[in-house]
Amino acid sequence: MTQVRGKFTLITGTMFVKKSLWLLDQIKQAKKNGTYYLCISTTKHEIKSRASEFVVPAAQISPDDPIELQDLLKTCYQEHGEYPEIVFIDEVQFIHPSGIRVLDWMLSEGINIVAAGLTYDFRHQIFPIIQDIFKYQILSAHLEHAMKCQICNDKEATHNQRLLYGQPNTTGPLIALDGDVYTYEARCGDCYQS
Ligand SMILES: [Zn+2]
Repeated sequence: MTQVRGKFTLITGTMFVKKSLWLLDQIKQAKKNGTYYLCISTTKHEIKSRASEFVVPAAQISPDDPIELQDLLKTCYQEHGEYPEIVFIDEVQFIHPSGIRVLDWMLSEGINIVAAGLTYDFRHQIFPIIQDIFKYQILSAHLEHAMKCQICNDKEATHNQRLLYGQPNTTGPLIALDGDVYTYEARCGDCYQS
């Protein structure tokens, strides 16, 4: 019997478009349906949204060592006799480019992947793993509301502006979370400062 290849569903966009909220809704649905699923995050141990009280514990994988994800799934297999039907991945953009092999392996095992992440980094360069994922036949999820630029509040936000102590920043670490030191704004191309 030929294994049915898994499906890849992706939600992308800028900061603050409620991608995680969308992902949480998908997880809620899977939970309701009794689906065997696994939640993964590359940055934290839980998946939560600013707009939701619903928080899901997630296994954290190191973005630089995607093979860890494969090991985790093999452990699931040993314990349950099957792979999860769906693997939810939050902040998928941070997975190292070599991780595409692991994602490919998952799909070939019939595992469905439902992922949320940013398309572009703070330099407005597409994340390498996202570029590779776009080569798949993906099911793109669409959000109901586009995010408006946080500066002009007029055009659609397409860029992620990183600020270091309030000033536009295009250098420094590739992974820096929205917090005290670095903050982010979703901006249109005109208001983005490179
Ligand atoms: Zn603008």
